[in-house]
Amino acid sequence: MKDLLGGKGAGLAEMTRIGLPVPAGFTITTECCDHYLKHDLKYPKSLHAEVKKNLSRLEKATKKKLGDNKDPLLVSVRSGSARSMPGMMETILNLGLNSKSVEALARNTKNERFAWDAYRRFVQMYSSVVIGLPKEELEEKLRAMKSRRGVKDDTQVPAEGWRELVAAYKEYFKSKTGKAFPEDPEEQLWGAIGAVFGSWNAEKAVTYRRVERITGLLGTAVNVVQMVFGNTGDNSGTGVCFTRDPSTGEKIFYGDFLINAQGEDVVAGIRTPMHLNEMATRMPKVYKQLEKVRQLLEKHYRDMQDMEFTVEDGTLYMLQTRVGKRTPTATFEIAVDMAKEGLISKEEAIERIKPEDIDRLFYPIVDPSTGRSDLAKRKVAAGINAVPGAAVGKAVFSAEEAEAMVHGGEKVILVRRETSPEDVGGMFVAQGILTATGGKTSHAAVVARGWGKCCIVGCEQLDIDYGTKVAHANGKTIHQGDWITLDGNDGVVYLGQVKLSTPELPQAFSTLMGWADSIRKLHVRTNADTPHDALKAREMGAEGIGLVRTEHMFFKDFEFPEKSIERQLAIQEMIIADSPIARKKALDKLLPYQRRDFIGIFKVMDGFPVTIRLIDPPLHEFVPHEPEKQRELAEKIGVDVEVIARRVEQLHEANPMLGHRGCRLAITYPEILDMQVRAIIEAAVECKKEGIKVIPEIMIPLVMDRKELQILTDRTHQVAQGVIRESKVKLEYLVGTMIEIPRAALLADEIAEVAEFFSFGTNDLTQMGMGLSRDDAGRFLPEYVDEKKAGIFADDPFQTLDVRGVGLLIRWGIERGRSVRPKLEVGICGEHGGDAASVKFCHEVDMDYVSASPFRVPIARLAAAQAVIEERAAKKPRGKKKGKK
Ligand code: PEP
Ligand code: MG
Repeated sequence: MKDLLGGKGAGLAEMTRIGLPVPAGFTITTECCDHYLKHDLKYPKSLHAEVKKNLSRLEKATKKKLGDNKDPLLVSVRSGSARSMPGMMETILNLGLNSKSVEALARNTKNERFAWDAYRRFVQMYSSVVIGLPKEELEEKLRAMKSRRGVKDDTQVPAEGWRELVAAYKEYFKSKTGKAFPEDPEEQLWGAIGAVFGSWNAEKAVTYRRVERITGLLGTAVNVVQMVFGNTGDNSGTGVCFTRDPSTGEKIFYGDFLINAQGEDVVAGIRTPMHLNEMATRMPKVYKQLEKVRQLLEKHYRDMQDMEFTVEDGTLYMLQTRVGKRTPTATFEIAVDMAKEGLISKEEAIERIKPEDIDRLFYPIVDPSTGRSDLAKRKVAAGINAVPGAAVGKAVFSAEEAEAMVHGGEKVILVRRETSPEDVGGMFVAQGILTATGGKTSHAAVVARGWGKCCIVGCEQLDIDYGTKVAHANGKTIHQGDWITLDGNDGVVYLGQVKLSTPELPQAFSTLMGWADSIRKLHVRTNADTPHDALKAREMGAEGIGLVRTEHMFFKDFEFPEKSIERQLAIQEMIIADSPIARKKALDKLLPYQRRDFIGIFKVMDGFPVTIRLIDPPLHEFVPHEPEKQRELAEKIGVDVEVIARRVEQLHEANPMLGHRGCRLAITYPEILDMQVRAIIEAAVECKKEGIKVIPEIMIPLVMDRKELQILTDRTHQVAQGVIRESKVKLEYLVGTMIEIPRAALLADEIAEVAEFFSFGTNDLTQMGMGLSRDDAGRFLPEYVDEKKAGIFADDPFQTLDVRGVGLLIRWGIERGRSVRPKLEVGICGEHGGDAASVKFCHEVDMDYVSASPFRVPIARLAAAQAVIEERAAKKPRGKKKGKK
């Protein structure tokens, strides 16, 4: 229903169906919008008659007539697409007013001021939205009228003032368009319908869809709904509320309310609203009714709802309900609470978490060690803490400049009086958003929350001058380009760059991840090269290491950084060496370092499997290319600089990614393999002696042939067995390979005769399977992925596995491998191991585990559980091997 009626239309229809107070109206479908945009802005044939028929039904239901000069019906004409795009498309209110009906409205409501205010709002909206006259010039006329009359707030403007403004707007309209402002309500209606349809393709809407990756929708629906007014006096008002707190997830009724105001006043954040609690005392009866609606809607939709409502002279009307956007913390809290309340199942709770929700949980906060007095000195102002987190950036006062600065490599905080949908591009690139006005449901807050982006609104002390690009507050000044820090948790703005750190995870996160763990079949390991990363990964729930890239240890001593230089020199000396004996001498220096690293990792992993890959990158990556650096090295290792220059020259390859790397290095320089295997096994033996369980898996990279692997595996066993014999310790270990060359995948049955395990290196397998350089494809891949350009792929194949092509090599590889070794252990250690869609594929092809970088381990755990749930729903059987984990 949502696809056809849009979110708003579907919500209105549903609320009407379950008997909630909803103003009468009808919805024109998204299909009509699709037709209109595809057929040169022509409506489908039957639409005129349909609208006429439904309009007269609406007139009958309300017992009023559109534009009538006795008892006029007024309508709102609103957009609404299947996916929420807050504020991105157009709305026209009070349609049906003209010079006659406005007088009738004044008479009937006995409120001339209200009637003319409604009319001026309509003329203003129609002129800018339908005709495209500049908003700023219309606003300018409003300001001029107010200053002529010496009033500050809109609420102080008398009827006469609004009359005067309507006349000024109409005159301006005529001067710009050459035509009088339309009096005929049907002409107004069709103008509005066309404008709403057209707004689907407005730049801001297109940008929003691009940023949010919203695709495949038909367009916007149009909702024509009877107007109800929240601005008829102090017994009226308008508000936005959530069935639970969208920031914390707490089960409290949460929202903003403005007495005597129209809906857009809340959303635009022009006036700062009161909290819903206050409404409970000001309008107790309506509040009670609203509280009932809250309960009903949450039960009905089984999710947290974001609702808009208006109170007209004491009568409540629900204008909208939709699934509410929320912070990552709230996402977990709400999902877990709802499952515990029995409103949804645990599986549904798991399904509701998106990978981004997990990413966003790790957003920074102001570091707790920061001194209170330092913060007090830096404090500029405080506002409403709309979206938690913290952000540091340079202040910028326009969205356009924000984009330009970010393009130039800067980090920015967007500072505005209020934001509007036009600002969405700048909001997206900003680290955080700060507005001087608005409440927690203002445009800035809603959009930022959707992105999990730190946001402070209603910072009223902030006096912003866009002209000079300066903001003042409490005697302090922020110039454009000054560093500022936002604390979205407390709503405080600080001068300068305050130190940030990562917060503790909410309890609901571990509860939900525990549920996911009990459902998933795939194991989740991590890619980690240091004990420190390994520890982080275990905290994230890793059950082993799927890839230790040992070459990282050649360059950096993570435990004693001052020793890094010794490691570098040893590896460089080894590369420069011209004989196996000289090479071995250099490698002997490296051995104790590698052994220490492995001991650290084994200890952290405490019995979980650890897959260690032997050296992989081409050797030229380890030696200096600049003459100055070559001279330095020559001095340090005591050889002629010419020798180094010549060796570097020798190592040069036209295409090093397809060159002398991976296991090819061990074929040529087996001493390197000897040293690494010895370090691994000696480390394991030492741990074992200390009573620590160790299962090392030695992994040989970039294998392309059975014989190649056989030679290296034999040598590995020779070294390993020697060490084990000497130590007299019983130690199990595995020797396996990476499958990252298409030939290895195609001949996987042969490879599996030798390899005890497979780990798919999908970075290289994608590179070689698709013929795309992983280092250079970024230059043109965006064009391949952009729907508006070539749009050849839906996703970047280096981020999300190309299931159709590269996936086929994986399927084949697993099938052939297990045909000769049924218990073959299979995993993935390319970047795709931390990508949710790719993890689901790994489940489908019956891998044993995925391996992801530490921070993506929870994403993999979640996706692995979702894969099981989705499989059960589709009743699709998994691969052949069953019942693991
Ligand atoms: C791979 O190719 O997928 C892989 C994990 O190895 P690397 O990224 O180190 O080449
Ligand atoms: Mg690789």
